[in-house]
Amino acid sequence: MTAELIDGRSCAARLREQVQADVRELTACGARPGLATVLAGDSYPARAYERRVRDLAESLGCRYSCVALPGDAAEADVVAAVGGLCADPRVSGVLVLRPLPPQVSEAAVYRALDPLKDIEAVHPVNAGLLALERPRFVPSTPASVFHLLDTYLSRDGRDPGEVYRRSRVVVVGRSANVGKPAVSLAMARGATVVSCDVHSARAGLLREHTTAADILVVAAGVPGLLRGVDVKPGVIAVDVGINAVHDEMTGAVRLVGDLDHDSVARRAAAITPVPGGVGPVTYTWLLRNTVAAARLALATDPVRRAKGLPGPELDVRELVSA
Ligand code: NDP
Repeated sequence: MTAELIDGRSCAARLREQVQADVRELTACGARPGLATVLAGDSYPARAYERRVRDLAESLGCRYSCVALPGDAAEADVVAAVGGLCADPRVSGVLVLRPLPPQVSEAAVYRALDPLKDIEAVHPVNAGLLALERPRFVPSTPASVFHLLDTYLSRDGRDPGEVYRRSRVVVVGRSANVGKPAVSLAMARGATVVSCDVHSARAGLLREHTTAADILVVAAGVPGLLRGVDVKPGVIAVDVGINAVHDEMTGAVRLVGDLDHDSVARRAAAITPVPGGVGPVTYTWLLRNTVAAARLALATDPVRRAKGLPGPELDVRELVSA
């Protein structure tokens, strides 16, 4: 079997058109969406992510700003930066870039977010709403995983719900940003869900679960963690990992996923590539969430409501679902 490639770039391009139309509509209503990021330190992945997000936000016509702090910034400084951005009415959504420096607690910074501007759903209130299947925002990476899966599974008029309800979904990695919300989204679709992490690997249980997966989502940050022998023939495999490795032949740096792509592709029914799979959809989804936050602000703006000013058609429940 040679797997079908699930193409993230074309999926992202379609999503981008929708987001572009939404930005135009909101801008015409005087509510131009604004994204702000907080970058502490100079980690290469965080800077690369910031550049990508900035380019996309600007090309879509959104406002964009970034507060960059030095690597030795105190936790209080990062918290204050987040608070300042959340208080700014021109900012619709705030993204805190990871990794934060070791002296800064992620939990403390996330608690400083205004839940209505927390577009990655990392504030405890938004993480709780997602776990209760009433999401305000769906974090961009797991949302992208399921957007790609939903799109792939609904080809040829199929009902993805049917497939999920008959499937065992195994999620490898359970970070607050990716693995845990992916588990919630799989459960919300009626799948039988198994969550694995480093403890599963140490206990020798990882392969037992991955070889039983009908749908496999891998987000561990370990290049080539799973090979063809570790997956079930016919699996649908989503590779979230983005790892920079040195090519032994050329010495150049290249990006690889958590799956050994070629051997898994020989057994899988479908697989996402790295790069060009989950990544491009993730950036676009972040802007989609920024648009959702701008709509939320517009819908709840007391001045606008008092004046009876018109807004775009608003359905707050629909804006934020993945
Ligand atoms: P984290 O480091 O926050 O979490 C990694 C998770 O994987 C942890 O739960 C960890 O377990 C688990 N894990 C680590 N090693 C193993 C192992 N050998 N076996 C099983 N589980 C393991 O990373 P993120 O969730 O933020 O990111 C994961 C990967 O996804 C990275 O490569 C990152 O670059 C990529 N990424 C890609 C995005 C995209 O858009 N495509 C966006 C965000 C991230 P434990 O909790 O026990 O430590």
